Amino acid sequence: MDWLKHASGTVSGENMKGPLHFACIALMCLLPAAPMAAQTATATASLDRRIAITFDDLPWASLDPNTPLPAQGTVPPRIAAESARLVQAIEAAGTPAIGFVNSARLLVRGQPQPDRTAILDAWLDAGLELGNHTATHADLHAVGVQAYEDDILACDRVLRPLLAKRDHEPQWFRHPYLRTGRTLEDKAAMDVFLAAHGYRIAPVTITDSDWIWAAAYAKALDGGDAATQAKLRAQYVPYLLRMVNYFEHRSIKLLGYALPQVMLLHANALNADTYPDFVAGLRARGYRFVGIDEAMRDPAYRRADEFTSALSTSWIHRWAIAAGKSWKFYGGEPTSPKWVVDLAGVPIGPE
Ligand SMILES: [Zn+2]
Repeated sequence: MDWLKHASGTVSGENMKGPLHFACIALMCLLPAAPMAAQTATATASLDRRIAITFDDLPWASLDPNTPLPAQGTVPPRIAAESARLVQAIEAAGTPAIGFVNSARLLVRGQPQPDRTAILDAWLDAGLELGNHTATHADLHAVGVQAYEDDILACDRVLRPLLAKRDHEPQWFRHPYLRTGRTLEDKAAMDVFLAAHGYRIAPVTITDSDWIWAAAYAKALDGGDAATQAKLRAQYVPYLLRMVNYFEHRSIKLLGYALPQVMLLHANALNADTYPDFVAGLRARGYRFVGIDEAMRDPAYRRADEFTSALSTSWIHRWAIAAGKSWKFYGGEPTSPKWVVDLAGVPIGPE
């Protein structure tokens, strides 16, 4: 079964190939990382820094139809506690956020489970938004337009009634793996389909490898290794802030101003346990938190998207490629430390 095969590799999320994959193709591995001090020096207090936070793979990135069932219900107690912590952390931080749902993660033996759906209700109860991320985390480049549309509609059939109870309707769609079409024809077909069903594409301008860090964190949680958990939390937040800083500077380089960013994170325990520190770090840097709708009012998001590569990369890079920027533009993208990648034990690098 496709979902079965897929789920085994999907603790993951968008950057299945990992940052090194894009880095090497963009020839960035030949470059030293840009000194952070030099980057920071170019920042000015007058920048209007805004960011929309998005979480993919709801209800929970490690929950799928094959998750071993607990003694009661269908959500393991640790996941129930972690997901509650994430929603509480977002609510306490007072930041808008949207979660993108894979409806097949709600299923056990083909049936949606009330205790899994309750996780989505908790997001809505907290005033957060939900969007469509396909039912089974399908890869458009692998399955083709027809099967992909069917998978979007399968998620829509779950999401729409859930939102209708609150007089809302789904309006945002996020591509799994950030793969948006192998050809311009496929992209045009998807544009027509999404518009016909009331969806707008939710781009990502700040990508990161939170799923690698989260896989390492899950191992430290499994092993009860509190020291490693603390070390991961302590290094993860500065890593995320470096990613924000990197894409802030890329947007200034490309557009001449600090773009209202759209950041991709995943619904996982590490984000649940570090969100307050991450938000504090961004606020200290002058960021304001906005909804994805406000961020996307910026005219940059109306740029043509002709990116057909499988690389799970930022829309800023896509625009830069379209604008013919040289390889120098992409240099300095932060990477995850080797010890984290090794601990995570997830596949990384070129296929
Ligand atoms: Zn995803």
